[in-house]
Amino acid sequence: MSDSEKKLIQDYFGRQASFNVYAKDFTTFKTGGPVSAVVYPCEKRDIEFLFNLKKNTGIIVKFVGNGSNILVSDHGFDGVIAFTKNFSHIECEDEIVGAFSGVKLNKVIGFCIEKGLSGLEFLTGIPGTLGGALIMNAGTKTMSISDIVLSVEFMDHDGKWCREKREQITWKYRYSQLKGKAFFILSATMKVKKGNAQEIKKTISEIMKQRKHSQPLEYPSAGSVFKNPEGFFAGALIEQAGLKGYCEGKAKISEKHANFIVNTGNASSTDIWKLMRYIQQTIKNKYNITLEPEIELIGRFP
Ligand SMILES: Cc1cc2nc3c(=O)[nH]c(=O)nc-3n(C[C@H](O)[C@H](O)[C@H](O)COP(=O)(O)OP(=O)(O)OC[C@H]3O[C@@H](n4cnc5c(N)ncnc54)[C@H](O)[C@@H]3O)c2cc1C
Repeated sequence: MSDSEKKLIQDYFGRQASFNVYAKDFTTFKTGGPVSAVVYPCEKRDIEFLFNLKKNTGIIVKFVGNGSNILVSDHGFDGVIAFTKNFSHIECEDEIVGAFSGVKLNKVIGFCIEKGLSGLEFLTGIPGTLGGALIMNAGTKTMSISDIVLSVEFMDHDGKWCREKREQITWKYRYSQLKGKAFFILSATMKVKKGNAQEIKKTISEIMKQRKHSQPLEYPSAGSVFKNPEGFFAGALIEQAGLKGYCEGKAKISEKHANFIVNTGNASSTDIWKLMRYIQQTIKNKYNITLEPEIELIGRFP
C-alpha cells in the first residue's frame, strides 16, 4: 500500500486507523505478520468509504470479527483489515432477536438469558462474532446458525445495502452464500422462543463442560481446521491416521481433538499451513478423501 493510500485512510479514520499491525495480535491462532492498515468503522458511511476505497484504488478490504476462523500469512496482508467490533447493538421484540455483526456470540447468548429467550444455546463456546458466524454458517453437529436466522442486512459487492430473508440465501454445512454476496454484513434477525433463564443457563454450562472436556481450549487455535467430509468426521480420520500429537515447529495436531491445530509456543502461520498440508496429503493417500479447510487463509502461503 502506498503512502498516499495510507494517508487517505488516516485522513478519514483518524485515530480509528493504525498501520503495520501484526495479525498475531488479533487472531486466536496468535500468528501472522504485518497488516498494512487496520481500521475501526462504526457506522454505515464508514463502510461506504471502505467500499469506495476498494473500488477506486483496488486495495483489498477484509472485515474481521474476532479473528477466530482465519490464518494470516507470516508475510502479512497488504490491504485493510476493518474490525467490526463497533457494530455491537442487540435488541429484541417478542420472539425475535436483532443484532449487529460485530457482537460476540456469547454476548447475544447473555442478552437472551437476561430476557429469558431460548434458541441460541447451541452457539455456546464458539468464540466468534455474529458476522463471522453468518459468513461460514457456524454451528455444531446438531444445528447451524442458518437454522435460526430470519433475515440478514448487508452491503453487496455493488455497494448496495440489501436485506434478504433466510430463504433468499443458500446455506449448507459450514457454507453460506453470504460469503460471495456480501461485502459487509451489518446485522441479522434471529428466531428465538420464550424460555426459562435457569434452564438456559444449565444447558449452556453443560455445553461448556463438554467443550472443555473435548477441546484443547488451553492453547491458541482456530477451532476445527477442516470441514467434515460427507459421511465422515475429519477429526476421526486424522486420529485413525495416527497423526495426533504430530508437530511442525511449535504447531501441533492436538492430542485432545485431532481436528484442532494448536499453537504451543511461538508457532508461525507457515508451521500451521505445513501441518494442514501434511494432514491433507496423509488423508488423501490413506483414504482417498480430500479434506477441505474450514478456516480461511489470508495472504500469501507459504
Ligand atoms: C476454540 C474454538 C472453538 C470453535 N468452535 C466452533 C464451532 O463449534 N463451530 C463453528 O462453526 N466454529 C467454531 N470455531 C470457529 C470460529 O469461532 C467461528 O467460525 C466463528 O463464527 C468465526 O467468527 P469470527 O468473528 O471470529 O470471524 P473472523 O475469523 O473474524 O472472520 C471469519 C470470516 O468472516 C468474515 N467476516 C466477519 N465479520 C464479517 C462482517 N461483518 N461482514 C463481512 N464479513 C465478515 C471475515 O472476513 C472472514 O472471512 C471455533 C473456534 C475456536 C477458536
